[in-house]
Amino acid sequence: MTQPDLLPMLAPRRGKPPKHFVDLDAAERVDALKQLGQPGFRAKQLGQHYYAHLTVDPEDMTDLPAAARAGLATQLFPPLLTKVTTLAADGGETVKTLWNLIDQAKVESVLMKYPERATLCVTSQAGCGMACPFCATGQMGLTRNLSAGEIIEQVRLAAKAARDGELGGDPVRLSNVVFMGMGEPLANYAAVITAVRALTSPAPEGFGLSARHVTVSTVGLVTGIDRLAGEGIPVTLALSLHAPDDELRDELVPINARWKVDEALDAARRYFDATGRRVSIEYALIRDINDHAHRAELLAKKLNARGDGWVHVNPIPLNPTPGSKWTASDPKVEQEFVRILRMHGIPTTIRDTRGSDIDGACGQLAIKER
Ligand code: SAH
Repeated sequence: MTQPDLLPMLAPRRGKPPKHFVDLDAAERVDALKQLGQPGFRAKQLGQHYYAHLTVDPEDMTDLPAAARAGLATQLFPPLLTKVTTLAADGGETVKTLWNLIDQAKVESVLMKYPERATLCVTSQAGCGMACPFCATGQMGLTRNLSAGEIIEQVRLAAKAARDGELGGDPVRLSNVVFMGMGEPLANYAAVITAVRALTSPAPEGFGLSARHVTVSTVGLVTGIDRLAGEGIPVTLALSLHAPDDELRDELVPINARWKVDEALDAARRYFDATGRRVSIEYALIRDINDHAHRAELLAKKLNARGDGWVHVNPIPLNPTPGSKWTASDPKVEQEFVRILRMHGIPTTIRDTRGSDIDGACGQLAIKER
């Protein structure tokens, strides 16, 4: 069967996926519907199907005229993601999915089930340009930015899987989304902010998640952090610091050449001031590289210098990438790192290592497929 031609305003442009209903703003939705011979109020009906019922199947859209359903779905909900493989861990409660995009780029998302809720780790770029040497995605380079539709579809498909009990056991509600999959979200700002709005707006404009349950994780693109702070959507910000001193951070997080540790921390503090949301500092503990007691001391000092109650630290043992010369810190060293931070009054929790045996969220599956 040949696909009917898409409306020119929706058709793929070079290197970009076709536009999807969720990529369009309110005026563009009405315009697209008009071109399809439909009244503008159908945008609300379609939004309700997509965001509340999590469906793009015309058969489900019984409040639309029967003759128009299939055409509307074909035009406005083009398939953007095709499942390639899934890998399960933690007794089926962690599921990593590898997706194929229309230009054959591969991306992954990871869905984690907890009692009564679920968290999705989403991808914002195919590959990544930030080149952090300990990160699998960082080794791939950047292929391209994802569209908002490609990000939002990861969320819809995960929310549907959780709702339909595909994670085993009772169905759960997708409650949390973290931008900790492949890519640097603030380097794909426009698509990411469109996705954040779709996550946090109530239906029929979005999935209606609480902003505090959405986390944007960044290497520390200061201009992006300040821009996000001004959006009026208090999502949680995570700053991937990994070292408290410029000498080491220059090596671990190469963008540190542009924005130094102090500049990134100042931006994180401004983010707290603007949103009231406590910032998370991400710190992958790498054996004998960044796990020294003196670095824990320096980190605590720099955080406390910027005030109380604005930040917490999430150390995570390094998940070594294939062929990496680095490995995770010794658990005793990890405990000591945590103890020092707490002793200085910094709330600290070791981050969940769900799915580490399936290379959770570190780009490794996508690399194997390439
Ligand atoms: N580019 C963004 C978001 C993607 S990575 C960022 O850097 O924050 C999400 C988190 O996983 C980041 O804190 C990142 O530093 C961390 N990470 C990447 N590779 C890792 C690895 N091999 N082991 C542990 N954490 C890793």
